[in-house]
Amino acid sequence: MPIIERSALRERLNTLPRLSLATLPTPLQNLDRFSDFIEGPSLYMKREDLTGMAMGGNKIREFEYQIAQAVERGCDVLVHSAGAQSNQSRVTAAVAAKLGLQAIIVGRRDAHAQRQGNLLLTQLFGAEVYLPAIEDQAKAVAAKMDALRAAGHKPFHTSTDARAYRAIAYVDGALELLEQIEAQNLRPDALYLCSGAYTHVGLVLAFKALGIALRVVGISPSPRDDSAAAASHVALAQECAQILDLDLDFAPQDFESYAAFVGADYGVVTEGSREAIHLLARREGLLLDPSYTGKAMAGLLAHVRAGWWQKGQTLIFVHTGGTPALFAYADELGLD
Ligand SMILES: *Cc1c(COP(=O)(O)O)cnc(C)c1O
Repeated sequence: MPIIERSALRERLNTLPRLSLATLPTPLQNLDRFSDFIEGPSLYMKREDLTGMAMGGNKIREFEYQIAQAVERGCDVLVHSAGAQSNQSRVTAAVAAKLGLQAIIVGRRDAHAQRQGNLLLTQLFGAEVYLPAIEDQAKAVAAKMDALRAAGHKPFHTSTDARAYRAIAYVDGALELLEQIEAQNLRPDALYLCSGAYTHVGLVLAFKALGIALRVVGISPSPRDDSAAAASHVALAQECAQILDLDLDFAPQDFESYAAFVGADYGVVTEGSREAIHLLARREGLLLDPSYTGKAMAGLLAHVRAGWWQKGQTLIFVHTGGTPALFAYADELGLD
């Protein structure tokens, strides 16, 4: 049962501050040569890698709502801390440049800290970049935040501050996708995506609020306990529902996600992700990335091969971006 109409949900989103960063709508495309190859369901792709700014990805859409909160709060420095090839670091740096804010990135000297891909672009966008040893990273970012505050700055940490607004952005994304599904006369059986938290939670929240029974299958890019992840998604969804003034109750079963396709670790290429990257490149002329979408597509492929989905069914894969990282993974992509 819907608890709100689409137009009313759109109106609630419209009351929130929002920046204009992304080129929308992103396309919803049929992958017929890839679908032929898997001899199973017909596969469509929602191209969130094509959000435009700074080589795109889901963070551009998320930042329209989240960084609007930083602007509302009068913050003057955007801070982010993650792996050396972080997409979010690239987008933090680019959006800070566009808004005339300072960007400080505390990365880490991990296995992909060469000046390539996202790290190269983060520096090009003018961020101040630090790459401490992995074990010093948490201390380094905390010290940086303290030093900024002591110097009279108002830093905004893009991983933690106003984080629920990133999921809110995908309530918007869900409305966009639903229109495209209808315009193309599709009857999707499930949506697949790489699931950190925000895209997944925003989509599920929107479908639940609108009474749309569309299964959302998340594939985790990092090692985690699937039921602990579901529990934390429930808390995030509840927070978003409150922001949108929606009377919704979430349960762990609302959040289906699998950490089984991560392999050795976050950011480490697996046989499955390598196969997925090659297949999409060679059958569709389309790029996936090694850390997120490659693994999510490997999960989808594994589920098709295990008989979860058959001919006559339709799946939509949400491409969340990340392709600049490919350039830092030249040696791991299996090209000899
Ligand atoms: C950050 C990221 C994700 C996870 O995003 P959420 O914000 O947690 O939804 C997935 N894919 C790519 C390419 C990313 O950069």
